[in-house]
Amino acid sequence: MGKTKKVGAAGKYGVRYGRKIRQRLLKVHKQQKKKHICPECFKPGLKRLAPGIWECKKCGAKFAGKAYKP
Ligand SMILES: [Zn+2]
Repeated sequence: MGKTKKVGAAGKYGVRYGRKIRQRLLKVHKQQKKKHICPECFKPGLKRLAPGIWECKKCGAKFAGKAYKP
């Protein structure tokens, strides 16, 4: 028997994490939609390298568009 937990879109930000974190994620998403703010250093230095891949010019962090949508 393996791990057969059903984890969908709800499971990702779901029961394991509290409401506060979910709300914070929503807040971050809103900010990123506006100014492409880096989740690491919170500066508007994100540049899109490729569809779904973003790099921060301020701190050099890279992000995949799956989790974040700048
Ligand atoms: Zn950064």
